[in-house]
Amino acid sequence: MQRRYFLLGLLGLGGISTLDIDSVYWPDDGEFFNACKNKLPERLAQHEVVLSAFQDIDTTQLWDGHVHLVGLGDTDSGIWVNPNSLSMLDIKQYAQFHFYLNACCPTPDMPIDEGFINRLKSLQFGRGIKFILLAFDYSYDEQGNRLTKQTAFYTPNNYAAKIHQQYPDTFEWIASIHPYRKDCVEALEQAFIKGARGVKWLPPAMGMNPASSLCDRFYKAMAHWGIPLLCHCGDEKAVDGTNTQIYGNPLSLRRALEHGVKVIIAHCGSLGSNIDTDKGINGPLVSNFSLFARLMDEERYNGLLFGDISAITQTGRTSSLTTLIRRSDWHPRLLYASDYPLPGIIPLVSLRQLKDNNNITEQQTFVLKQVRHYNPLLFDFVLKRHLRVDNQGFSKEVFHTRSLWTGIRTIN
Ligand SMILES: [Zn+2]
Repeated sequence: MQRRYFLLGLLGLGGISTLDIDSVYWPDDGEFFNACKNKLPERLAQHEVVLSAFQDIDTTQLWDGHVHLVGLGDTDSGIWVNPNSLSMLDIKQYAQFHFYLNACCPTPDMPIDEGFINRLKSLQFGRGIKFILLAFDYSYDEQGNRLTKQTAFYTPNNYAAKIHQQYPDTFEWIASIHPYRKDCVEALEQAFIKGARGVKWLPPAMGMNPASSLCDRFYKAMAHWGIPLLCHCGDEKAVDGTNTQIYGNPLSLRRALEHGVKVIIAHCGSLGSNIDTDKGINGPLVSNFSLFARLMDEERYNGLLFGDISAITQTGRTSSLTTLIRRSDWHPRLLYASDYPLPGIIPLVSLRQLKDNNNITEQQTFVLKQVRHYNPLLFDFVLKRHLRVDNQGFSKEVFHTRSLWTGIRTIN
């Protein structure tokens, strides 16, 4: 039973849409599940493919800004999972959750919450590298009432802050605060005092419209303290029934940007499409990635708008990937991030497809295929370092993200 509830907890992950069966490919050699191996063998750790990925990289500047903090609530973490969500499960979703569970590599004989942190700690792959853990707030209505029934799961800010305090060399944290909360500004102040590096929203699942004036006082406070907003854009297919895809429209973030809030669009909005609201409420449907690109190309948002490259190696996002690599003028505003635990889900990233597209070499494919079973975060880093389009890759500054999260990243 515990296991099923944990699967539900994972259901709230921002990247759930990426697990849509349509975007899951048939894995090479029929390999579906992560073997969850420990301790990368020397032959892989010292392999040229792995070592060369670190060339010119200052690992103390590498902070992964998109690491989900999930669990079951079987410790004093305060994590809460909505048991009512059980009735909404169907076979397809259940299969998806199994992939999530597998990617987290739960430790036998250890509470799920603890095992999740334990495994994650063991994945640190270089001196000074940090993982930024994401909290997850409840849904709220426009009157500021908490909508517990419509919330799939909740990861408290205090828990994320506590893990950071316990292991400050490995973890930073990002708060999640719904802007419709009556106490949203006070909660932001508390998070700021406890060292939160930003605020994370998943609007279609959490029920906030970033374009609403209800967010204004929250935006003012964020801009005042210089706290960045990490916002999932693009399609999300949460199962709580309150999904509003338009809330995931990248253009809805104009309001935050106009308030001077630093905004990081997760996955560069690289999935699905939305109404081009710049052309009115009946505007044409345009891909979310094109809307993200439009915002990136507006001069006034330079220094304010960023995109994280988490999940962009997944099948179904490859055309966005090509553009992101080619647009080297964007690279100072792209941030390396993993969307953990997703890199551990074997069928989400097709190394064979990336090789066929000449994004990676045969040898890199061979090594990466093995590394992902030991350390999905190292796998994600090495893969993104080696990606090529016409001999061009992501520049090293994409991986030197720390200064953005500590507020001193400068943009030329
Ligand atoms: Zn995510």
